[in-house]
Amino acid sequence: MAEPPPPTLRLALDKDALAHNWRELDRVSGSAEAGAAVKADCYGLGVDQCVPTLRDAGAQQFFVAHWSEVEPVISHVPAEQVRVLHGPLTSADAAYAKATGVVPVINSLKQAKIWIDAGGGPCDLMIDTGINRLGLEPENASDPLIANLNVQTLMSHLACADEDTGMNEKQLERFRSIIPQISHRRTSIANSAGIGLGSEFSFDLTRPGLALYGGVPRPELAGRIMQVAKPEAAILQCRQLSAGEKVGYNSLYTAPAEMRAGVVSIGYADGILLSWGKSGYFVQQGRRLPIIGKVSMDMIVVDMSAAPDLREGDWLELPYSLPDAAQQTSLSQYELLTVLGARLKHS
Ligand SMILES: *Cc1c(COP(=O)(O)O)cnc(C)c1O
Repeated sequence: MAEPPPPTLRLALDKDALAHNWRELDRVSGSAEAGAAVKADCYGLGVDQCVPTLRDAGAQQFFVAHWSEVEPVISHVPAEQVRVLHGPLTSADAAYAKATGVVPVINSLKQAKIWIDAGGGPCDLMIDTGINRLGLEPENASDPLIANLNVQTLMSHLACADEDTGMNEKQLERFRSIIPQISHRRTSIANSAGIGLGSEFSFDLTRPGLALYGGVPRPELAGRIMQVAKPEAAILQCRQLSAGEKVGYNSLYTAPAEMRAGVVSIGYADGILLSWGKSGYFVQQGRRLPIIGKVSMDMIVVDMSAAPDLREGDWLELPYSLPDAAQQTSLSQYELLTVLGARLKHS
């Protein structure tokens, strides 16, 4: 098979920024150790690209959500450092944990039974303290099944850590009241935003995800977190528009005067959604090229007035600092990472 020619779009990943972000979050976690949430293919940025960097920076606890996410992660780190957040729903899940050596997170009495019936062994235990997502109800903490678990990390998860609300203290209190009831090796409640809430939320282990990849969920983390993911795309065609000519699907833009426009090779399938069209722009050496008209499936048209020297094949960057991009597009910082398409990453 012939080698495919070079692509016209790519996701530039700043691995130094990724390593910096883990180290910074580990530092802000104080005496607690920072782990790394690497679920959803490292929030869309790629396990094979990100996990070795996080491991080499010093991370030793890796969280995935699904059992299907285990295999790529344990090709980079020891299985006993990998915890599976969704836990065992079936005996097949539990058998897979035993066979691979990864650590299940137990989220209910039912999961505790499945794990014990499979032979048990080291596990983590998630307690629900108010998010009502996954987790054991606190009133079940005294169940004999729980006493039979070999709990490594006793954890809970915050619902509103990115907000200033009484809910955070409430969950903290509930978590503290559970801790003496269940034997365990370490405790953990903070995600990225939780790290920003202060040292009483750090416990023994923090579990940042979003902030590793450039997300800034709380102002306390601003200025500490670096951008990791930078989508870039090439200009496929330059066009001269006359005054009154329309651009893109549904002809939403009308050229006010004669102007030069560029067709950029990136679109919906790459995760650049409709909302970028409103006030978005690309940049090239500090120059802004505003998006005109609608994202038209695989392509976006830009006003090239600020960069008359650019030609077909030249590359533009989409400004993707997550807090700014979230403001601009009304997408959440989580969405901005996880929507990035396969074509962008596998180029
Ligand atoms: C996804 C997840 C995290 C990481 O959350 P961020 O907000 O991305 O930092 C931590 N803990 C649990 C249980 C999670 O599901």
